[in-house]
Amino acid sequence: MQEPRPAEKATPYWWEAAPVKPLASAPLDAKTDVVVVGAGYAGLSAALALARAGRSVSVFDRQNPGEGASSRNGGITSGNIRLDHPTLVRKFGAERAMAIEAEGKVAREFLYALLAEEGIDCDFQPVGRFYGAFGQGNYEQLARSAEKLSKSLGIESFAVPKAEQRDYLGTDFYDGGSVRMDIGGLHPAKFHAELLRVALAAGVTVHSRTGVTAIEPEAGALRVSTARGEVSARQVLVCTDAYTDGATPWLRRRLVPVRSRIIATEELPAETMARLMPRRMMCGESRHLGFYYRPSPDGKRILLGGRDGSTKGDPAEPTLHLRRGLVRIFPELENVRLTHSWFGNVAMHRDMIPRIFSRRGVTYATGFCGSGVVWAPWIGTQAAHKLIGDDAGRPSAFDFRPPAAIPLYRGKPWFMPAFMALYRLQDKLAMRRAGRDG
Ligand SMILES: Cc1cc2nc3c(=O)[nH]c(=O)nc-3n(C[C@H](O)[C@H](O)[C@H](O)COP(=O)(O)OP(=O)(O)OC[C@H]3O[C@@H](n4cnc5c(N)ncnc54)[C@H](O)[C@@H]3O)c2cc1C
Repeated sequence: MQEPRPAEKATPYWWEAAPVKPLASAPLDAKTDVVVVGAGYAGLSAALALARAGRSVSVFDRQNPGEGASSRNGGITSGNIRLDHPTLVRKFGAERAMAIEAEGKVAREFLYALLAEEGIDCDFQPVGRFYGAFGQGNYEQLARSAEKLSKSLGIESFAVPKAEQRDYLGTDFYDGGSVRMDIGGLHPAKFHAELLRVALAAGVTVHSRTGVTAIEPEAGALRVSTARGEVSARQVLVCTDAYTDGATPWLRRRLVPVRSRIIATEELPAETMARLMPRRMMCGESRHLGFYYRPSPDGKRILLGGRDGSTKGDPAEPTLHLRRGLVRIFPELENVRLTHSWFGNVAMHRDMIPRIFSRRGVTYATGFCGSGVVWAPWIGTQAAHKLIGDDAGRPSAFDFRPPAAIPLYRGKPWFMPAFMALYRLQDKLAMRRAGRDG
């Protein structure tokens, strides 16, 4: 076997068509109605709603806008809730559990309406998502969930038995799977760039490469210290998700940044793509440390992502791990060249559902657990309506107490290697039970 080569570039494939860049420097307003911290999907969506409601809004990002997760992700409009129904009921009660699941549908529809109404050009393709099963038991579980989704929420979803799998995906790797047609794919960096365009046109001021360093109460307002000076704001909304830093230490104790990595193949022949991804669907699989993958919007490459257990530097092993995963799913790609391999952070926390909450006059819209393409625009907008104090879309089922702090955690996730090892073990045991090698 040929020695696998690492990828040619360490920057996101998405930045080829939509590079992140600083904005022209804008004067700092000493007073503003609302300061938003973080210019990703959540911060910009919130800022847009606030500006449209007549508020003056200053958004600060310590990097280039979008340089966090919002231009690095897979672009899959999954709107995932990681907890299954019984766990949601146990943790949050039956009423909130139902409301959370129902709001997922509303949030996805909100995103699609936003793209259409604002004329956002981001290669959105409503192609559906195939989810692969391991073993008969897992297949039956996915089939039951698909039926429930269809009956309870009217979402087009169905099981795909192994005998029909190749109609959806050119692999025998899975033991059948399920499809839901309300999920699609977009170009995440183009989506971000377009959202930025719309927010700026609505009158939002965005300060790039300007970190917020502290937020403190001052007579009837909040004093926001930034790298370029101080701003007095009536309200502050924090949308920093997995890039939360020492400016909000209270939040940082609640959110754990976990690396997620994506590789992109070289352009593949049209007939190969037609064989491997005949319906151009988004794809995922039911393992803790499973892969998510998709065709590039032009249908010429495969992009595959998964958890990256590294915490420092940019080691080669996580890229090679994804490459091995790609080849296991599509053995004919054994000698494929990788053009890009990059990582970004996703924000995990103890409750594993996105959230809006307020504390000491500051509001937070965050904690997207790796599914923010749908959740961040929705939760950001809902948080904006909370600040405006109107009724649009409220009350959100995601607006309640913050997730609990993680004991002995101050921003350095020392426990991640143990968690990764546990997930690997659980996946291995589940695969063994399914009669598959791990
Ligand atoms: C590799 C990868 C793949 C993913 N794939 C998918 C997918 O396919 N589908 C999906 O739904 N989701 C996916 N996600 C998750 C999704 O990208 C995120 O949930 C979403 O982008 C979060 O948006 P956000 O606006 O909350 O945060 P971000 O876009 O991360 O923005 C937060 C911003 O806050 C800024 N910031 C932090 N601290 C400060 C400070 N003190 N002052 C000023 N600015 C500050 C940061 O610079 C950053 O730009 C993926 C994520 C990654 C990393």
